[in-house]
Amino acid sequence: MMPTIPVDPERRRQVAAAMRAVLPDRCVLADPEDTRPYECDGLAAYRQLPMVVVLPDTEEQVLAVLKVCRELHVPVVPRGAGTGLSGGAQPLADGVVISTARLNRILRVDAYSRSAVVQPGVRNLAISEAAAPLGLYYAPDPSSQIACSIGGNVAENSGGVHCLKYGLTVHNVLRVRVATIEGEMIELGGAAPDAPGLDLLAVFIGSEGMLGIVTEVTVKLVPKPAAAQVIMASFGDVASGGDAVASVIAAGIIPAGLEMMDRTSSRMVEPFVKAGYDLDAAAILLCEADGTALEVAEEIERMAAVLKEAGATALTVSRDEGERLRFWSGRKNAFPAAGRISPDYYCMDGTIPRKRLAHVLERIEQMEDTFGLRCANVFHAGDGNMHPLILFDANQPGELDRAEAFGAAILALCVEVGGTITGEHGVGVEKIDSMCVQFGARELDAFFAVKRAFDPEMLLNPNKAIPTLNRCAELGAMRVHGGALPFAHLPRF
Ligand SMILES: Cc1cc2nc3c(=O)[nH]c(=O)nc-3n(C[C@H](O)[C@H](O)[C@H](O)COP(=O)(O)OP(=O)(O)OC[C@H]3O[C@@H](n4cnc5c(N)ncnc54)[C@H](O)[C@@H]3O)c2cc1C
Repeated sequence: MMPTIPVDPERRRQVAAAMRAVLPDRCVLADPEDTRPYECDGLAAYRQLPMVVVLPDTEEQVLAVLKVCRELHVPVVPRGAGTGLSGGAQPLADGVVISTARLNRILRVDAYSRSAVVQPGVRNLAISEAAAPLGLYYAPDPSSQIACSIGGNVAENSGGVHCLKYGLTVHNVLRVRVATIEGEMIELGGAAPDAPGLDLLAVFIGSEGMLGIVTEVTVKLVPKPAAAQVIMASFGDVASGGDAVASVIAAGIIPAGLEMMDRTSSRMVEPFVKAGYDLDAAAILLCEADGTALEVAEEIERMAAVLKEAGATALTVSRDEGERLRFWSGRKNAFPAAGRISPDYYCMDGTIPRKRLAHVLERIEQMEDTFGLRCANVFHAGDGNMHPLILFDANQPGELDRAEAFGAAILALCVEVGGTITGEHGVGVEKIDSMCVQFGARELDAFFAVKRAFDPEMLLNPNKAIPTLNRCAELGAMRVHGGALPFAHLPRF
């Protein structure tokens, strides 16, 4: 938990005045009453009042804001819808938040190239809604899709239920326009796939606002499948559910969605959504098939056989579109439903090899005793992307600290079994220390080299996503020779 830092009023007056010289008054917020709503993102336990918030209307205004920030040496925090769960959009006491809320126009939806060109503040779901009359949609579907912005999705390389089959954001974005801190517009990627040269588009996607401000995104659209059905499979213990996930993929099936919920999760969401979940099962799997009616029927039959063989105690296949959507609506509302059974929750996001799911779920169960806190598991099982929800009460002394220690232990376990400390929520401020567990000095050196190439003065979202070597050394997570850190030239904030 980071202490809140007071904003220097004199500096705020100076920066706000400089912003008002390049933006209309209504686009600059400096009064604490107005900037308070921006003090956190979805990681609400971490809060910091920003110095100034700006809401540009145009790309030219974004460039003008960046020019002021460079001249006054003010750090910049980009912000989309603020649904991020790792504190990526968390403000800085001496920084300017650039919100993309007003850059929210869908510029083009094109059936011929199956693509859409949108501004960064457009909501994820709004793209699919705009493409629906053409029989198309944008496949990556984070559970937050009614609220989160495409700019935030690009910065986090967001995933969702359908990403197992259709790919993550990085597989569905063709091109981005970016305002650099140097005050220039650059375009990465293009309308045609596979541009020559280094793949800077892939480097940029998932860079958490550290390399530039996205001002326009071209996304791929895919045809809406003619049919879809989902199986709800019940299991008597979470480990068999975990093994069944590996069995489905090993059978050569790539379901359109393959998600798991343990009993704590299904029981917390059922009274809220009435999805029709099997509340006696220790775990349920939701396995979706999509395609033509014939393809769906065949895949449902194959998946049912594999799931039975893997020990499923009951199988329910959605009978109509209404039931299919209800099954998914329970899954998509699981995070907010945690609020029904616990005052606070801490959502972790680690990815592991699928075949280790059963082992990791059992170890998390043991950790519940070690840390004295409950944990609900609801996650993208097909991708091995775990989302343990650690339930706690921040008003009880010591519970937040225990929740954070529990989360860090889960991420260390993910790395131990060959996985990684984040699947889709990013590193932000939340997982910055866990980066020291996963990466050594040479990898961190390479990350900073890329950052310096885009942002030599380290003004864009500083102190997020990549830990300094000092920080790792202080945590005891890095080897120090003779008192000297390796790569002494790297920035030490
Ligand atoms: C209930 C709930 C469910 C969720 N489910 C999922 C899920 O299934 N899958 C998933 O991947 N995530 C999920 N998330 C996390 C979150 O919604 C995603 O990370 C999303 O992409 C964040 O988008 P945003 O617009 O809210 O971005 P913000 O939170 O505002 O920002 C996120 C990051 O992007 C940067 N950023 C934002 N806009 C720009 C820009 N224009 N240019 C450069 N950088 C920018 C910010 O600096 C920050 O680092 C969930 C969150 C919640 C609250």
